[in-house]
Amino acid sequence: GVASGDPAPQGVVLWTRLLPTVPGSLPDSVTVRWEVADDEAFRRIVHHGTATALAALGHSVHVELTGLAPDRWYHYRFMLGDAISRTGRTRTAPHPGQMPNHLRLAFASCQRWEHGHYAAWRHLCADAPDLVLFLGDYIYEYASPRDTTGLARVHSLRHATTLADFRDRHALHKSDRHLQAAHASCPWAVTWDDHEVQNDYAGSAGKGDPTAFLALRTAAWQAFYEHMPLRASSLAAPGFALHRRLDWGQLAHIHLLDTRQYRNLQACRSPRSSGAGATRPNDCPALQDPARSMLGPAQEQWLDQGLALDARTRARWSVLAQTTLFSPRHYPSGLHSTDTWDGYPAARQRLLHSIARHAPRNTVLLGGDIHQNYVCRVPAHPDRPDGPALASEFCGTSISSRSGTTQDKVDAVARRNPHVLLARCDQRGYGLADLTPARWTTILRGLDDPLREDSGIHTLARFVVQDGKAGPERAA
Ligand code: FE
Ligand code: CA
Repeated sequence: GVASGDPAPQGVVLWTRLLPTVPGSLPDSVTVRWEVADDEAFRRIVHHGTATALAALGHSVHVELTGLAPDRWYHYRFMLGDAISRTGRTRTAPHPGQMPNHLRLAFASCQRWEHGHYAAWRHLCADAPDLVLFLGDYIYEYASPRDTTGLARVHSLRHATTLADFRDRHALHKSDRHLQAAHASCPWAVTWDDHEVQNDYAGSAGKGDPTAFLALRTAAWQAFYEHMPLRASSLAAPGFALHRRLDWGQLAHIHLLDTRQYRNLQACRSPRSSGAGATRPNDCPALQDPARSMLGPAQEQWLDQGLALDARTRARWSVLAQTTLFSPRHYPSGLHSTDTWDGYPAARQRLLHSIARHAPRNTVLLGGDIHQNYVCRVPAHPDRPDGPALASEFCGTSISSRSGTTQDKVDAVARRNPHVLLARCDQRGYGLADLTPARWTTILRGLDDPLREDSGIHTLARFVVQDGKAGPERAA
């Protein structure tokens, strides 16, 4: 397929990848041509050029366009010999000084292959967003379960550990025509969560031999770059520079966060456990350790400065596009989940302080990971959930991945957490956010049946955030 990403006022990244019909039959270096046009028929070509697809980067192609006009839609395609790719549609961001009157964002996450068809992406194309924020778990590293009861589909790939495995896994997902169409329909901005590498990994800590895990992580990150419309500057060995900011004129400043690479190990997680799990604060003093971070010190400081800049420049909406639930969940059992922000309470408090101190005009957090829709008034103090709201949160459900809980349990959580305005685990889909200078409107979209490729879609709920008033309100 084709994709585009990270729109700036003068440019955007174009992406494709060459796959040979016979494995190994492509030369090490292949020159690909590309064209950008005003019109779908490519009568008015505004830019064209060549790019090199290298075997060392899986014959992926990344073109970083410059010199485009702000706030405009374009069409693009790639050519190799007499082969022409499908046509993609992309757009640039508005001029930095401009206050656009509208932006439609879509936010989505978690697309486990076996758990559902990608009907959500078909409906998303019809909803015509300007930008898709993908918030993690683009792939899952697992082999398909032996017991296929209740699954939408299976694949034959083994549990991914090598570069070849991760390339094949990304290629599998990108073989889905609905996902291909969604990438071709508008630019995306992507971040990752754990399953792009390994379930519940934290920084350099994963399962098994530490050296082998670092090699696996390096391979997984490279495959991620090879399959995403990211700038080459993200390949910043030994790490991966993923956290970044996208500005939509004065209307929205979007801070894309990396909550995996720099985080400390989940509190009181045993090195041999298969996942992060949950703990009770009394059993786990390390949970409160102020030195523990979700973003790492450098990214925390970068975000603090970004929020200060948002406040100074009077950006209308500061968007924190991160991967998981930010607001607290006080469970009836007294357990705290250790993989979400509940597992990093001191780091969450520092971010809340940063928002309170700089006071950007409106702060909205978007997330994923939990495979549930959560809509929250973000309380200024997590232990006083009925206190004043500091920000608004929309944690989106999954494209296909199952939630692993029941609505009864989720209802019990919601009853104990007055800042939680909606909690639903039974819906797959995505969120739309319509931003204007006066209000933010979130529309939660749910599939009728994720096991069907031809599933219909419905609107589960609508919430509005008024400019200058933190906290979502349910709309008709
Ligand atoms: Fe997930
Ligand atoms: Ca996850």
